[in-house]
Amino acid sequence: LDIAPDTVPKKIDGFEFGSSVNHGLRAGNREAHHHLKQFLSRIADYATNRDLPAVTGTSGLSPYLAAGVISPRSCLLAALAANNGRLRGNDGPTTWISELAWRDFYMHVLVSCPRVSKNQPFKLKTKSIPWRTSNTDFAAWKTGQTGYPIVDAGMRQLNQMGWMHNRLRMVTAMFLSKHLLIDWRWGERYFMHQLIDGDLAANNGGWQWSASTGTDSVPYFRIFNPFSQSKRFDPDGVFIKKYCPELSGISATALHDPKKLTTAVQSHKIDYPPFLVDHQFARQRVLAAFKA
Ligand code: FAD
Repeated sequence: LDIAPDTVPKKIDGFEFGSSVNHGLRAGNREAHHHLKQFLSRIADYATNRDLPAVTGTSGLSPYLAAGVISPRSCLLAALAANNGRLRGNDGPTTWISELAWRDFYMHVLVSCPRVSKNQPFKLKTKSIPWRTSNTDFAAWKTGQTGYPIVDAGMRQLNQMGWMHNRLRMVTAMFLSKHLLIDWRWGERYFMHQLIDGDLAANNGGWQWSASTGTDSVPYFRIFNPFSQSKRFDPDGVFIKKYCPELSGISATALHDPKKLTTAVQSHKIDYPPFLVDHQFARQRVLAAFKA
């Protein structure tokens, strides 16, 4: 079906939906194939651009894949055709194919280990981690008010678009589970509620990866520093400034440096929150929790 967004009713049987989210997508299989075709013209740059949220470097096909509007096989075949049938290498098409494979991998995890769909971690010993239950910190994370620009920009993108760039899903998920030590299942649920591409297997897999409770997950002692992440993946602060416009007058150097950021926010009297938690303190707290 081809459905123009403005023809979709805002209320059906008393249920209101889609009110504040603007993902700008059109429904339908034809639209999905059009999306795929457009992406193929930039697939050669995927390996270089896929981690840069300010650049349209990824396919944006996840909502169509998650809803079954396009099949992963069509995607795989199209990528292979764009790569002369080659499945190996580390160029754009093969890197993209490996991402498609993650999608399948997490589905297989769900099938072979159904407990992960029942609020259980894959690594059972992580059940004893004393997760915090701070509603105030959780609310600040949800609304993009943590004082960490890259985290806040990512959460605001999620709230505004119903979609978030993969690099930022990792950064924000790790911030909630590691910096705030809040139960990753709270975040998993919130993402599922907000995401237009919400998918039980991929979302659960991504959260358990970030929280170090999953199959192939990041080691528990690897804790992303949000400032190093933004410096590396949003060097000019273009993405941060788009979603945190109150920071638009601040230099990129200050956006990636906690001391300079604090000074700039105070001296320009910007309405932007102080750090919800100190990075070093948070790091020690989560390391101690995992070690114990
Ligand atoms: P591209 O980079 O173009 O990748 C192509 C396709 O491959 C994607 O559309 C997706 O179907 C699949 N894919 C890519 N990366 C992954 C991955 N790491 N895991 C599984 N499949 C992948 N993806 C979802 O589809 N639904 C979710 O609910 C979801 N939740 C996530 C939660 C967290 C905490 C994390 C870290 C990742 C999550 N992902 C999820 C994976 C990934 O972030 C999205 O698939 C990707 O951002 C979608 O953008 P794209 O279509 O432009 O991806």
